[in-house]
Amino acid sequence: MTHPRWVTCPNCGEKHDASGRYTSPANQERDRRWWKNEHLSGACMKKPPEAGDRVRITSTMPEDPDPIRVGTEGTVREVHVDVGQIRVDWDGGRTLILLTSDPFEIVRDPDGED
Ligand SMILES: [Zn+2]
Repeated sequence: MTHPRWVTCPNCGEKHDASGRYTSPANQERDRRWWKNEHLSGACMKKPPEAGDRVRITSTMPEDPDPIRVGTEGTVREVHVDVGQIRVDWDGGRTLILLTSDPFEIVRDPDGED
């Protein structure tokens, strides 16, 4: 019998049951990775980009078999915060969904031109 094991995000204070009692071991592992990426990394505190913003990959995307290279920039087309997905047209022609938990930053253009 597994008991609830609450962990609290140090960034946003959200609570998460890490006992895995409602899920399979495989899903629990996914869940654990999600928690680490979304909360322990501080991604939950990151303001999501808006359509038209420029974004840049800051380190290797953990979940993607064919990830966008680090340093690649792209233009945000649609943002779906509720499902944690951002549709980006990447420079070089690729279109790949960026997850809000992926390692990226919003590129601020100091000149304000786009
Ligand atoms: Zn959090």
